[in-house]
Amino acid sequence: MLYPVSCLLYPVMAMPVHESEAIVLRHYSLSDSDRIIVFVTRDYGKVRAVAQGVKKLKSRMAGSLEPLSHIRLEFFAREGRDLSQVRQAELIHSYLGKNPPLSRVYAYTYFAEIANELVQDNQPNEALFRLFLASMQAGEQASVNSPLVRYYEIWSLKLSGLLPNYAYCSNCAKCVKDDGFFAWLESGQVRCQACAGGRGLRVGAAAAAVLESMGKLGPGPFMAQPLTRDAAVDIERLSQRLLGLHLEKELKSYRILREVL
Ligand SMILES: [Zn+2]
Repeated sequence: MLYPVSCLLYPVMAMPVHESEAIVLRHYSLSDSDRIIVFVTRDYGKVRAVAQGVKKLKSRMAGSLEPLSHIRLEFFAREGRDLSQVRQAELIHSYLGKNPPLSRVYAYTYFAEIANELVQDNQPNEALFRLFLASMQAGEQASVNSPLVRYYEIWSLKLSGLLPNYAYCSNCAKCVKDDGFFAWLESGQVRCQACAGGRGLRVGAAAAAVLESMGKLGPGPFMAQPLTRDAAVDIERLSQRLLGLHLEKELKSYRILREVL
């Protein structure tokens, strides 16, 4: 039997209410008046929730539920159901605001697409949430640039447990930070030149030094540093190959972003 959506969402009184800071990743239409909103939350990981009445002109929540809004979210969680229900959404800050530069729109959309892939439903990854916020803050204070995008990619991989430790050769334990290394992506190994046997993705000395500095700096100071072309090329290739390997898909927003950055 088919029930109208309003019946499926009902009753809500007995459901537990959760509160968390959240960032709106995306939304899509559910009916003439309702939307499904996908959030990454600080305390509950990724959450999908129905926002009832949000497409109506008089909706008070609509402005808070646009993509890339940082909000305080209250939602009803329904055990055993994929979809929660938005109870309240209060805007803390909109990272797109009015008339944002295109580079910011595309970069943050790309950040959201990566978070959407890496953060799991109902499994908090607070470090990744903080990275997302800090990267958007940095891109708002300065102009978004490619070092910021590389920073977000590499740190997203690291905080998801998908970035090998690139400090030492996996075979002979030689420190490779000063000479660069060869990444054996599928096995997660790192090889110095002597042990690589010509195999793997070459990451040069300049890029290895940049990866090292990424670990020590926040996104703001990092993106203000000059990045040599060699280092930029190597790091982009490394992060794109790792993302491709682990996500098993090409992110649409990346192709668009490359046209403006
Ligand atoms: Zn070695």
